[in-house]
Amino acid sequence: MITEELGKIEATAFGARKTKSKLSSKTQLFSHGNFLLYRAKKDSPYTIKDAVISDYNDRIRTEIERYFVANCVAEELTGFVEKEMVDENMYIMARDSFRLINGINLNKLVYLLSMIEIKFLSILGYSFDLSTCVQCGKRLDGEVYVDQYRGFPLCEKCRTDNSHHLKEGAVRYILWAQNSELRDSARVVMAYETYIEIRRFIRDIFIYLFHRVPKSWESIPEYREG
Ligand SMILES: [Zn+2]
Repeated sequence: MITEELGKIEATAFGARKTKSKLSSKTQLFSHGNFLLYRAKKDSPYTIKDAVISDYNDRIRTEIERYFVANCVAEELTGFVEKEMVDENMYIMARDSFRLINGINLNKLVYLLSMIEIKFLSILGYSFDLSTCVQCGKRLDGEVYVDQYRGFPLCEKCRTDNSHHLKEGAVRYILWAQNSELRDSARVVMAYETYIEIRRFIRDIFIYLFHRVPKSWESIPEYREG
């Protein structure tokens, strides 16, 4: 669970798999609400005693494309965030992400995912400053590159054969995504080539920072026109 007060925690709901349990409908994946938690000792795991659900986000569990995107976000939140790191922004982003994945137009799902990931990286402390080269520190006024070994942004001189060039559209999206609200992804329109550049950028950054990428990326829905 991603919580407001405790950060990322593990919690068990005893009997939730039984259909008669009052907890079974309240402990569905991707839902959001108020949970009553209990633990016997400081180091023992939490138990869910009761819950009041405010967002069931049901469409995520019935529409496969939404499910695949939600799965990517869930893996990033569970596999790439420190346990019990309390961060209000992370909590708000998790809450809003699943709400939006549940409701957004299917054409915009992949833009939403990319925006969530760019914001996720900023919350973890990796915000993208495009004024200077991350390697040499010189002002960036020409072409911009990203590199899974050398980071981002890189200038023309610091790039290697491994670096990928980012065109203006991709650079603009990355800056915009950092500073806009998640729900604004409903208004995004971009060319397929720009989308591919942004996915490659996010991939390079994940490898640079974590030396691995989420497994769930294998099932990201196809780009759709519009
Ligand atoms: Zn440089």
